[in-house]
Amino acid sequence: MARYTDAVCRQCRREGKKLFLKGERCYTGKCAIARREYAPGQHGQGRKKVSEYGIQLRAKQMTRRYYGVLEGQFRHYYELAEKREGKTGEALLAILESRLDNTVYRLGWASSHAEARQLVNHGHFTVNGKKVDIPSYLTKPGDVVAIAENSRQSVKFKTVIEATSARPIPKFLERSADTFEGKVLAVAQREDIDLDVDETLIVELYSK
Ligand code: SF4
Repeated sequence: MARYTDAVCRQCRREGKKLFLKGERCYTGKCAIARREYAPGQHGQGRKKVSEYGIQLRAKQMTRRYYGVLEGQFRHYYELAEKREGKTGEALLAILESRLDNTVYRLGWASSHAEARQLVNHGHFTVNGKKVDIPSYLTKPGDVVAIAENSRQSVKFKTVIEATSARPIPKFLERSADTFEGKVLAVAQREDIDLDVDETLIVELYSK
C-alpha cells in the first residue's frame, strides 16, 4: 500500500497547524511547529498570499494528513459523505472518525494515528469479538472495539494508556473502566470532533 514518506513534522509545518502525528512528542517543546512556525522549504517564510483555491486545498490536505488517509481513499469518503443526509462536510468528518484506526486513537490506545494504524495492522484489536486488522474498517454505533485478549498485558498498551490518560475521550465513544474495551455510542457530531478545520472548504474544493 502506498504511504506518505516525507518527514512527518513537515506535514504540520506545511499546514501551519499541529496535526499530532508523532504521539507524545507533539505535546512537548520539541514539536517542530513550536520551534519553526513557517512552511518548510526554501520559500517557506516568504509565502503570504494564498488564493481561494489554495485555502480550500490546504483544508483538504490538512484533514487528509490528520487522519493519515491517501488522496484516493479520501475522495472515496467524500463520495460516501455526499450520499448521506445532512451536511456533506460534517458527514465526511464523521466517516473519517469512524475508521477503526481513528477509534483506537480516540480511545487512547495509541499515541498517534500512525501508531494506531500499525497496531490495527498487527491484529491487536477486535470488533464485536472478531479480530479486525483493517485500519480503514468503518465502525458504527453499537460496535464494541477491544484490545485482543492476548495483547492486554503487553507493556506497550500499559505505557500508552498511561501516557494518554489525560486525553479526553469524545462523547460518541465510551471506554470501559478496565480500559480494554470501548463502545461506539453514536455517529460523531461536528461539535465533538476536535479538528480545527472548516470542512465546508473541502466541499467547495470537490464541488468545482
Ligand atoms: Fe506535528 Fe507532532 Fe511534529 Fe509537532 S511534533 S510538528 S505536532 S507531528
